[in-house]
Amino acid sequence: MSIRQNLEKIRQEIPDNVTLVAVSKTMPVSAIREAYDTGQRHFGENRVQELILKQPQLPDDILWHMIGHLQTNKVKYIISFVHLIHSVDSWKLMQVIDREAGKLHKIQDCLFEMHIAEEESKFGFAYEELLDILREEEWKNLQNIRWRGVMGMATFTDDIPRVKREFGKLKEIFHTLSRDFFMQEDNFSEISMGMSGDYQAAIAEGSTIVRIGTKIFGTRH
Ligand SMILES: *Cc1c(COP(=O)(O)O)cnc(C)c1O
Repeated sequence: MSIRQNLEKIRQEIPDNVTLVAVSKTMPVSAIREAYDTGQRHFGENRVQELILKQPQLPDDILWHMIGHLQTNKVKYIISFVHLIHSVDSWKLMQVIDREAGKLHKIQDCLFEMHIAEEESKFGFAYEELLDILREEEWKNLQNIRWRGVMGMATFTDDIPRVKREFGKLKEIFHTLSRDFFMQEDNFSEISMGMSGDYQAAIAEGSTIVRIGTKIFGTRH
């Protein structure tokens, strides 16, 4: 199956209100171009180094999503063009994104990355940890960030009930945050969850953004 066929198949499977981010990490510019030529505009990368190499070689109307762990010292390399940062997972990173966006007079769209998998993982806020930050008033001074929602990754497993439980947890977190901290914010509306192996389960649990790589571009080497 070609990239075009893969994309067409996935687009038929996902509802119109769910954004499809084509995860192009490790894939060459030619593969991204092929997807672009079918009308795909949202692309996701997980490494700054790779993103800044590819971005200038591709059309300007691509909407780039940063989905991987982001080090504070690398924010400045992507802030001018990145569409949505999915992987905000610390108070320090929140402050740096705000500062760098401010320098460019940009309002940066961001998601809180939440740790939802029952397995251990290095990345993502623990729920209580994010609550501690939001209960302090200081985050409200970060005026160059627009909070759009949450992102999370389920455990990599065939155990579908477990995956659904984890996605359900992210949806619940999203609703609680909306109610308690983003009441007046219509922009706080996104739940980024679902990858090649679990996007159907994620959509069933209320995903608004799926991040799909392998099912579009094939296996990464
Ligand atoms: C690689 C990656 C994806 C896509 O994974 P596939 O299984 O290839 O669809 C989605 N989200 C994040 C954060 C990733 O790093």
